[in-house]
Amino acid sequence: MTQTVTAQQTPGSTLESIYSVQGVSRRYGELAALDNVSLEIGKGEWLSIVGPSGSGKSTLMNILGCMDSPTEGIVLLEGERLDKMGEPELANVRRQKIGLVFQQFHLVQHLSAVENVMLAQYYHSIPDEQEALAALERVGMAQRATHLPRELSGGEQQRVCVARALINHPDVILADEPTGNLDEVNEKIVIDFFHQLHDAGTTLIVVTHDAEVAAQGQRQIILEHGRIAREVTDVASTPTKGKPANGPQS
Ligand code: ADP
Ligand code: MG
Repeated sequence: MTQTVTAQQTPGSTLESIYSVQGVSRRYGELAALDNVSLEIGKGEWLSIVGPSGSGKSTLMNILGCMDSPTEGIVLLEGERLDKMGEPELANVRRQKIGLVFQQFHLVQHLSAVENVMLAQYYHSIPDEQEALAALERVGMAQRATHLPRELSGGEQQRVCVARALINHPDVILADEPTGNLDEVNEKIVIDFFHQLHDAGTTLIVVTHDAEVAAQGQRQIILEHGRIAREVTDVASTPTKGKPANGPQS
């Protein structure tokens, strides 16, 4: 196992890493939800994470998403040591760099769709209703902007979550089963949108049970019992893009 803390290149590519995960474990008592995982994720890469229930997918996503810390090992995001950070610092990184599409990351029930998106802007910089509406437009939800979450279907709520996740132009989108509750139409809208983001240079890390969704990624890692059991690289697609003009744009 490597002990270096410098960012490395993603194996098999010329991409610089956005994440470097080095010997990471997450233990709950006797159970190792993640067991000595090492992984480089390239800037602008689309990585799919698959594996059976309980294999550690969400645990890994929570660590990458600055919502949990490893009990062992090193996690670098753009060269910064996430594993050394406490909650206030992690929350800052989360708000500045990461867009989350997680099922447990619910919408605020007493705020409308557009207000939910604006709330994310508020945590990052300054809310801008026009921008929030434009984000909803991109996921086909502009007509529903003033609706409360309970007035929207599950698929529509998920699309609002996607708009909220990218309103602050995150460097990386982390999505845990983003299409899990969606019908085919909504699934296609979300996946098409992920393709647009990826084409614009955003790094995408997507946990999914759906083989078709997983196949959208340039690389798939298969977790089993908290370890990377296999890795499948899509040799047809060559990751080349870096994100242009990155950073807070509002
Ligand atoms: P997946 O997302 O692949 O279904 P998880 O990452 O949620 O798996 O969980 C991996 C393992 O860690 C499971 O055995 C789960 O029960 C356990 N686990 C996850 N979170 C906790 C927790 N907060 N406390 C105790 N065990 C947990
Ligand atoms: Mg899970």
